[in-house]
Amino acid sequence: MESLRSGLLSVLEKVKNSVILDTKEVDSIIRELQRVLLKADVDVRLVFELSEKIKKKFFSREIPPGFSKRDVLIKILYDELVSLLGGENATPYTLGRMPYKIMLVGIEGSGKTTTAAKLAKYLKENGYSVGLIAADTYRPGAYEQLQQLATKIGVSFYGDPQCKDPVRIVEEGVKVLEGRGVQVFIIDTAGRHKDEVSLMQEVSEIYEKLKPDDVILVVDATQGKGVAKQAIAFKEKVPLGHVVVTKLDGSAKGGGALSAVASTGAKVAFIGTGEKLDDFEAFDPYKFVARLLG
Ligand code: GDP
Repeated sequence: MESLRSGLLSVLEKVKNSVILDTKEVDSIIRELQRVLLKADVDVRLVFELSEKIKKKFFSREIPPGFSKRDVLIKILYDELVSLLGGENATPYTLGRMPYKIMLVGIEGSGKTTTAAKLAKYLKENGYSVGLIAADTYRPGAYEQLQQLATKIGVSFYGDPQCKDPVRIVEEGVKVLEGRGVQVFIIDTAGRHKDEVSLMQEVSEIYEKLKPDDVILVVDATQGKGVAKQAIAFKEKVPLGHVVVTKLDGSAKGGGALSAVASTGAKVAFIGTGEKLDDFEAFDPYKFVARLLG
């Protein structure tokens, strides 16, 4: 995200160095902003919509007493960036009535298994009794990976490496873990299959049987605006409650991924910022933009 940050800071610098903020000057600032956002892989259409909105707002707004034109433009930039990242939609992640079942979906390599463990740790630290269920019967090593992570965090775990039927694993897992006092179930599912149709079918079957309270899609920030396609594909099969955007550390395309997800109407609940279990935080577009511009 460093390039997005330095790019936005240069836009702010341009605003601060502006003289009269007439059409010409504002256009030049907007062009710089467009360049920065496009470089961060934000969708072209979103970039142009944002540009128009900023101009319209700026030239129609009264400058309140005690404020400069620059202050007003900076405030508009800030608000529009927050909105681009799903601002109005954002609410803190909370759990409903227990028991609470969370199903994670996403394509292989998105960071799903790591995210399952990060979320388990986060919820455990917030006082919940958490259990992880390994229902990815497709990827070799997925079972061991999740089992090791569960042991590391100190949460309950269920999996059955002999069983190839994820629906059965999930049913059995919920039963077994319930017996161990688990309140929050986090289910890791497959991200690859014979083909995409079988993968989506499997996801639907697990959803129908499990009736989860939340479905979280995990996407990889390095895919930039490409993640919108994934969000739309999964949304057609299961009602997506939330999205986690991983690998925002070091991704030049993070801005694109975050805005792409927001544009599908899905809510980004958390972001992954590294490989370690603590590299995980609740996503707050206001705070995020404040940090980018701060
Ligand atoms: P899955 O196939 O979706 O279950 O993906 P994994 O959880 O196995 O993750 C794939 C790779 O991405 C692993 O090497 C993880 O360590 C890495 N990974 C996951 N989340 C993040 C993140 O937020 N940042 C970085 N840098 N790497 C991550």
